Amino acid sequence: MVLADGLRPDAVTRTHMPSLDALARAYTQALRATTVRPSRTVAALASLATGVAPASHGLIEPGLGFLTKLTRLRPLARELNRAGLPSRIVASDLLFSERAVVRVLAAAAGVTGVTSAGRRAREVAGAALAVHQTDGVLFVYLNDADLAGHLHGWMSPQYLEAAAELDAAIGALAVLADDSLLIVLADHGGGGVTSHDHAEPHLVNDRIPLVLAGPDVTRRHQLTGKVSLLDIPPTLLWWFGLEIPVAYEGRPLAQAFRTAALAGVAG
Ligand SMILES: [Zn+2]
Repeated sequence: MVLADGLRPDAVTRTHMPSLDALARAYTQALRATTVRPSRTVAALASLATGVAPASHGLIEPGLGFLTKLTRLRPLARELNRAGLPSRIVASDLLFSERAVVRVLAAAAGVTGVTSAGRRAREVAGAALAVHQTDGVLFVYLNDADLAGHLHGWMSPQYLEAAAELDAAIGALAVLADDSLLIVLADHGGGGVTSHDHAEPHLVNDRIPLVLAGPDVTRRHQLTGKVSLLDIPPTLLWWFGLEIPVAYEGRPLAQAFRTAALAGVAG
């Protein structure tokens, strides 16, 4: 899973992001995917990690206050762990203070390991490819677009430069789709209300790109119905053939997969 922080769907064009655009056209892309509210990174990452919306997990601000809540939740990584499947995070270099928080939270949520490497997307992608994990989930976090968005504004020339950097990284990671399920998505958009932020409730902040690719993924397909970031955790468990906790608030995107399409499973 590749999370491109703050990447807007309208930045994914043949001009600015040819690799991701080609991947989206070749496999399955969601045209109306949205994130959770508030459209903030910590809230969205916690939703990806736990399968529930911010109203249920309560993590909006970075910090360790989340630890006590984790005991009541069923984090995705822990569900995978129980089935013997590891999950590893590869992210850009973190500040020393961030690193401690991330490692504690990740361990509590059942994440097997955290690798931080490099500053730009291509370096992180290189580190992710060097992990050579053959099972479970590899979560690659790229923050180039969000940094440029806050500094220069969403869809500014600098933001689109960052999108191009992300695209180079995604182009390198696309090789994983040859024998794995590759999911590329964002945690939020940006520039909906104010040009340099994304936290306000607004459709432009809510909209995210979502692309699924891999041998089992339906070719040249578009999901035209409403799709949520919350659909990703149940989709992963479903794909691994594992039980989806009742508390999870999304549903598996079965229509993105050829086997499900053949079997007539709705999604
Ligand atoms: Zn941000």
